[in-house]
Amino acid sequence: MKTLAERLKEASALLAPYAVPIAGTLGRTFPEPEDDTRFPFQRDRDRIIHTQSFRRLKGKTQVFVTGQGDHYRTRLTHTMEVAQISRDIARTLSLNEDLTECIALAHDLGHPPFGHAGEEALNTWMQESGGSFEHNHQSYKIVTLLEERTNQYPGLNLNREVLEGLLKHRTPHDRPKSMMDRGPSLEAQLVNIADEIAYTGHDCDDGLKAGLFTLENICSIPLAAHAYERIRDRGTSLRGSIIHILVSDLYGMSSKKLDRVRTLDAVYASAEPLIEFSEEMTRKLGALRQFLWDHMYLHPKVLEKSTSGKEVVGTLCRHLFSHPTAKVKELQKKTKGALEEAVKDYVSGMTDRFALAQAEELHLL
Ligand code: MG
Repeated sequence: MKTLAERLKEASALLAPYAVPIAGTLGRTFPEPEDDTRFPFQRDRDRIIHTQSFRRLKGKTQVFVTGQGDHYRTRLTHTMEVAQISRDIARTLSLNEDLTECIALAHDLGHPPFGHAGEEALNTWMQESGGSFEHNHQSYKIVTLLEERTNQYPGLNLNREVLEGLLKHRTPHDRPKSMMDRGPSLEAQLVNIADEIAYTGHDCDDGLKAGLFTLENICSIPLAAHAYERIRDRGTSLRGSIIHILVSDLYGMSSKKLDRVRTLDAVYASAEPLIEFSEEMTRKLGALRQFLWDHMYLHPKVLEKSTSGKEVVGTLCRHLFSHPTAKVKELQKKTKGALEEAVKDYVSGMTDRFALAQAEELHLL
């Protein structure tokens, strides 16, 4: 068996000069001894997978409320598809695969039950007290504070590169103070795009399976028509073909931009994204996204369930605020925040099924 140092040398030799190094450079908030056999981001990945929040992703809506069908994506299977696409892109571009996997696996941990409807309900709830809810920030809060793995520090004590990747900051004003002078790593940028590639691909798949639109309908959109053209004779999936087209465009555009970047510092200093689609593909993808909004996310079959989920989330928040349970009080004590914040942390962590069961048990439905 090779030593960790030998493997570190081998793995490092495969990285581009602008990749985040295998062992990272920014470190953890609370210093810890290194592991004997795993690289730092491998440990972070393992910490993320072994959280309660990660396991609960299986019970959270992606588009269809869980239980509407066994074959539709859940927040967990979506997350796994994002991780797979991210790793492929990272490997092809000689970037840090372990880091992209960490960011991808943790990127939706903060998503509430009932998908975007649940997110809207929580945002409305928080706005009443002058706050807001945004799932990326909740993912950050989960791994830095809410999850417990030791009594030595709060959260998971992940490397800063993973934390920064979760915040998806795009502009200087939404960067936390500690990160003011840094833009996102290429690994963080690519997970952001892999998320969009994954959900565009799998939503076409789920929408077709659910009969929300036909192949003919979706092929009125040039990107889908092109994707179908490629696979018509082979009979493989439209999802796979869409992903292939998007990823290929991303490689073409990004390698041109990356030619101008020589170091990680140059990536951090870059004011513009370096991993992105061509302008033409951005336009084509926009048209397909619009189709999915019109024919899927706003389809009565999808809306009906998520709208009732939205009411469940809002009702639970109001009730738990006026009648805080032991669990809510415990969360408030731990986070030393306001009561509405603890209610938000509790409700956003629920699975669809648990939220419904809670609402029923409290006679709120
Ligand atoms: Mg996502």
